[in-house]
Parts: sequence; C-alpha cells; structure tokens
Amino acid sequence: MSDESSDLAPTDEEREYLAERILHLRNDHPEMVYISFPGDEKSSGGCVAAGRGFFHINSHGGAEPCPFSPYSDINVRNTSLNEALHSPLFTALQSGDLLSGDHNGGCVLFEKKNEVEALLNSKAV
Ligand code: SF4
Repeated sequence: MSDESSDLAPTDEEREYLAERILHLRNDHPEMVYISFPGDEKSSGGCVAAGRGFFHINSHGGAEPCPFSPYSDINVRNTSLNEALHSPLFTALQSGDLLSGDHNGGCVLFEKKNEVEALLNSKAV
C-alpha cells in the first residue's frame, strides 16, 4: 500500500463491523449474493480477485482483477466471459502466490501493484 493512502485502509475494528453487517445481510437476504472486498479474503484463503471469486469489468469492457487492481489484458467486447476468466494476466495471478500473500489490512494486489504491473508487462502475459 502506498504511504499516501495507507490511512484509507479499514482498521481492524472497521473490518469487524463490516463482517458483522455482511453477516446480517446474508442472513436477512439469502436470495442475494454478497461479495465483500475487503472482507471475504480471510474466509476464502486469500484475495478473491482475478476470477478466483470474481473479476471486474470496467466501463470500457476491460476485464480487471478487481476495482482496486485496475489492470487489464483482455476486453469482453472482443471475447467471451470464459475467455476473460482465463486471460494471461488472470492465469498468471491464479497460478502464482500473489493472491494468497499477506497484506496490511487493505488490499494485497494494491500493495503489490508493482508485481502485478510486472506480470502485465512481462512477455508471458
Ligand atoms: S484485489 Fe484487493 S480488494 Fe480486491 S479482492 Fe483482492 S485483496 Fe480484496
């Protein structure tokens, strides 16, 4: 996490509050699907981005790991959702250890954005 924004990451107390509210929503509205990020990473064994739990499509159609990791190497205007799920970037993230890495309460991919950018710019992706 960059020094300029580290104070924006939720505190332990805020994360507990968020988890409690999500639990209530899930109990009160079982017909809905709630994905909490940050929040669900702990119970899911790590970051749930890059197709591990979800991915994000930006306003231009770019498939990104997560809104907090806005990098894309594939566009759903030109490909299927299934192909987007298996993009080189998503595949590299899913097969590497970044998604399961430790972080300081915020977002693991934001904290490791240099490594994500290196993956995106590598010849393998
Ligand atoms: S990229 Fe960050 S905010 Fe998004 S799911 Fe992973 S850890 Fe959570």
